[in-house]
Amino acid sequence: MANANSPEQSTRKCLGADCENEAGDLQCPTCVKAGMQDSYFCSQDCFKRNWHKTLHRKAQAQSKIIGKFPTPNIASQPDPNTGTYNPFPTFSFTGSVRPVYPLSPRRAVPKSIRHPDWAKTGIPKGEQRLNPSKIEILDARSQEAMRKVCKLAREVLDMTATALKPGVTTDFLDEICHRACVEREAYPSPLNYSRFPKSLCTSPNEVVCHGIPDQRALADGDIVNLDISLYHGGFHADVNETYYVGDKAKCNADAVRLVETARECLDMAIAMVKPGTPIRDFGRVIEKHAKSRGLSVMATWGGHGIGTEFHPPPWIPHYSKNKAVGVCKPGMAFTIEPILTLGKPREVYWPDGWTNETVDGRWTAQFEQTLLVTETGVEVLTAGNDNSPGGSIPIPMPTQIPIPIPTE
Ligand SMILES: [Zn+2]
Ligand SMILES: [Zn+2]
Repeated sequence: MANANSPEQSTRKCLGADCENEAGDLQCPTCVKAGMQDSYFCSQDCFKRNWHKTLHRKAQAQSKIIGKFPTPNIASQPDPNTGTYNPFPTFSFTGSVRPVYPLSPRRAVPKSIRHPDWAKTGIPKGEQRLNPSKIEILDARSQEAMRKVCKLAREVLDMTATALKPGVTTDFLDEICHRACVEREAYPSPLNYSRFPKSLCTSPNEVVCHGIPDQRALADGDIVNLDISLYHGGFHADVNETYYVGDKAKCNADAVRLVETARECLDMAIAMVKPGTPIRDFGRVIEKHAKSRGLSVMATWGGHGIGTEFHPPPWIPHYSKNKAVGVCKPGMAFTIEPILTLGKPREVYWPDGWTNETVDGRWTAQFEQTLLVTETGVEVLTAGNDNSPGGSIPIPMPTQIPIPIPTE
């Protein structure tokens, strides 16, 4: 792991695609401004030839996040019965979900379990240094390691989802997830990733993604996304699903249309994965299906490569007319993870720097799988099985929607 005393300076490589030169002092100014300190090139020419917009987007997202996990200085009075409080009482929440603090203390991972580079520092150094145009092809051994970690991730997701019911807090789910990871000798990848404080992302209702598990109890009628990532044997797995909490949500026609369409969008994109499929094509199919149901795609968030790093290239947009380059090749591993919303596809951040909710408070749903491109098609490495909780339910026809949407 690199630290302040490491010989990084002298072995710095040019970021240019297929450029093997050592980098000089020439840094991309846009990257620097966005807080990305590793964007060096060997020459002006190489810099111009390797325009790297995706890296800028990533750097900007990261700079929003890093160092932004504050100790709140204005908080509501703790509830005398529970001791819980809202850390951001002056924030204009767009829906009814509120943070319920205090967060539980950081959960420990035994030293015997292999940790990713950010476990200690909070900074995903290896990931930041990757060349955005180099997509890794996994050899047979790495593919086997991916199968293993992805199978574990599915087990952890299913165990966590099994504990889901009205009244449980998202922190309780985090505890289940964390323990299940440790039992499997896996590090929960989100823990301390860019200083994310928990082992699991829990995103209910209008929360788009990256919700922080806290003391909020889930209510009958909520929907919630559980996003699980594991690091085991030197490889990461990433999988998420949106679940109905209790039975009330299953009677909410809008919620069902949202959740089931998101599930279908992912399945339709997965069905396209085979050698030769352009990466830009997934977004067209996803957005078309979303629109046919009156839903929108949240464009800020995308799928990503996955392997020895958590979020390596390629970046996989879920919207149409995207300009993603590259085609699927055997041995590539990546995620597809569309997020759909009932309303406007724009998000606003809570002051915790992570939780983002829709600008209009309308609900969102997301599904994710980790995929491996094979010689003939695709292997869904994190696929569920007959015993997995969740699963699709029929979308009510427009003529049979007598049930009003609960207003919180
Ligand atoms: Zn995920
Ligand atoms: Zn992911």
